[in-house]
Amino acid sequence: MHHISDLNYQDLKQFLVNQLNLDKKNSSMRANQLWKFFYQKGYSDFKLFSNLPSKFKEELSKDLVISRPKIKNKQVSKDGTIKWLLELNDKNLVETVYIPSETHATLCISSQVGCTLNCKFCHTGIQPLVKNLSSNEIICQILIAKDELNDWKEQKKINNIVYMGMGEPFYNFENIKKSVEILKDENGLNFSNKKITVSTSGISPNIKKAADEIGTYLALSLHASNDEIRNTIMPINKKYNIQDIINNCNEYAKKNGEKIFIEYVLLKDINDSEKCAKELSKIMSRFPSKLNLIQFNPWPGVKYLPSTEEQTAKFIEIIKNNGHIVTLRKSRGKDILGACGQLKTESEREKRIV
Ligand code: SAH
Ligand code: SF4
Repeated sequence: MHHISDLNYQDLKQFLVNQLNLDKKNSSMRANQLWKFFYQKGYSDFKLFSNLPSKFKEELSKDLVISRPKIKNKQVSKDGTIKWLLELNDKNLVETVYIPSETHATLCISSQVGCTLNCKFCHTGIQPLVKNLSSNEIICQILIAKDELNDWKEQKKINNIVYMGMGEPFYNFENIKKSVEILKDENGLNFSNKKITVSTSGISPNIKKAADEIGTYLALSLHASNDEIRNTIMPINKKYNIQDIINNCNEYAKKNGEKIFIEYVLLKDINDSEKCAKELSKIMSRFPSKLNLIQFNPWPGVKYLPSTEEQTAKFIEIIKNNGHIVTLRKSRGKDILGACGQLKTESEREKRIV
């Protein structure tokens, strides 16, 4: 059995040739018809595919699944943010967050159940990695949000997709790549490069690879202005240090022609000093970048505190005075644990029976 969104357009055509013995011309026609009703109209039941003959649908449904995972829970924040808890076919749980603003709306999707990386300030980091999401499980998060919001008209409600939910996208590279292909395809979900952002904690070799193979906007979760601090809050820094990351970000920016977003969560008395702001300004001069400062979002049991307003203002001032672009990202959906770094589900790795 295949799931439809594990196949990009080329894969689907090949599948129709191999599995249903269609010739090349017919496989293109059928793939177009399938994609049109699935990605453009949002249908997830073969019964609704009035553009396909019944006999073909019958054959197809033996090998191809087009249904969506279940919504297990939905929470709506007082600021309009919506968080869905989805139950995948294998019963694992994953979260997806919709963040509307006055001018546009963003959907934040997850790439893994849990995360291997254990960044100290991140709630997902205390959930050990359960699994990589398949391309289908990634795309279904978007389809479900679109169903829920009745977003199947030409004028999109969800304008931006950010891979900033649970997990490290670059440790699930191939599935992220496939999902981005479906997102970008104009016969698929039809989002342009500039409407998609993939965020990484700095998996250096894959930053370079992504420049060639993924090519969306890139966000880098830096969160520290030197290796000493970064080693303590993001253990992955011991493997790929700041210098190494900068080199690869430079390659990415060269190839992609856009600035890289640096994500920096301000943690009181950890990374929010004036010295840090100066060091960060120097780092920013070394590759095309803009800074997204993030207010720290607490979660049960965490030991960090958000920076004070005064310290945040000082930090911003220094970055600006050094000629860099900086924005302060306000927390959204904090009351439903839907803000950056607050996502976590109850899924656990299956215990081995000895
Ligand atoms: N693993 C990827 C994708 C997750 S993106 C990455 O780390 O980039 C989620 C963003 O929220 C990251 O920038 C992450 O560092 C940040 N974040 C994590 N915990 C946070 C918290 N408690 N408050 C605010 N931001 C947080
Ligand atoms: Fe994983 Fe990103 Fe959270 Fe770090 S910040 S634990 S990489 S999800």
